[in-house]
Amino acid sequence: MSTVRVATFAGPGAGPRIETVRRPQVPDRAALIQIGACGVCGTDLHILKGHWPRPLPWPFTLGHELAGVIVEKGPGLEADFMGRPLAVGSKVMLPPLMPCGVCYYCVHYPAHANRCLNPTYYGRYLPFEKPPHLWGGWAEMVYVDLDMLPATKIYRLPDRMSLRVGSLAEPLTSCIRALNRAVSAGGFRTGDTVVIQGSGPIGALAVVAAREMGAGRVVVVGAPEQPRLALCRAFGAEATVSLETHTTPQARIDAVRQVVGGFGADLVVDCSGHPSAGPEGIEMLRDGGTYVEMGQFTDAGAVETNWHRICVKDITLLGSWAFTANDIPVAIDLLDRVRDRYPWHLMQQQFPFTEAGVAEAIQCALDMRCVKATIVPSEGIG
Ligand SMILES: [Zn+2]
Repeated sequence: MSTVRVATFAGPGAGPRIETVRRPQVPDRAALIQIGACGVCGTDLHILKGHWPRPLPWPFTLGHELAGVIVEKGPGLEADFMGRPLAVGSKVMLPPLMPCGVCYYCVHYPAHANRCLNPTYYGRYLPFEKPPHLWGGWAEMVYVDLDMLPATKIYRLPDRMSLRVGSLAEPLTSCIRALNRAVSAGGFRTGDTVVIQGSGPIGALAVVAAREMGAGRVVVVGAPEQPRLALCRAFGAEATVSLETHTTPQARIDAVRQVVGGFGADLVVDCSGHPSAGPEGIEMLRDGGTYVEMGQFTDAGAVETNWHRICVKDITLLGSWAFTANDIPVAIDLLDRVRDRYPWHLMQQQFPFTEAGVAEAIQCALDMRCVKATIVPSEGIG
């Protein structure tokens, strides 16, 4: 077979076209992978709706949740990213975004190498007309060449794993990482109650990840009942709240809080992609809970806010309300330690304890004529 069939799209809104392209030669550190299964991701749908925030090199082949079998490989490609041997017949997956390993982010912030400044992904193999052109798993084959794109990462799948299940490795990875982000923030512990907003593929896989990572209870908010909420329950969600029957944010908040009980959920993970999910989900949390935003990564529908930037920038956004009793001695110790190191008198303007003095202190603060208006009822006592 000297040709390969691939599905291409001319641009946003266009339907798929099955094109026939030349089967490439396979040099030393390259491989041709026959695709067994490739998922349709919400990202693909966004791209096809024109929501991708940067220009894309249309026409190209979508599909990044791929699993396949190596059908041809060069002798220099001996092992996968984890050092496991690769051979013709090996089952493999490829992620869509492969950090370069050498840019500032990859070197200095490896935990955020997903924000690599020079990632290898789709567009790097394009334009489509120029071989190698087989990138994107909605195709009979994809092609990889580690000499051309050294950041390419191949991951071997277990021989006994079906390629269909293997194609879930990429989206499940996103869910596991989101929960590990909560762990790293001290916001997800064994037995915790987790609410998942969104019952699409990411929401369903987040149910699995949450259960396997130790969640005590898992509740899903989403729609429609069939097939999505039913699947979430089959995957182990204790309860589901339907957007079809709970049509307002407050109705959903009330329903979730009734299921969860107590003070609210320990952890809420947004997998929904709905612009309003964030403010709604926060109200499902107990005070002191943790919220992870992984569902919103384009500004589609959220032009009035930059909430999606929480996800896109992979940031940790923390609330902090006042303090606890254990924090106060820390501040007292600090003030004592640095008592001579800062010009405190420049900060604190003193006012006498009279009606006029108190009024003037308030006005001075309101007018920003001082930094810290300070009323001194008993001057000279200490
Ligand atoms: Zn990088």
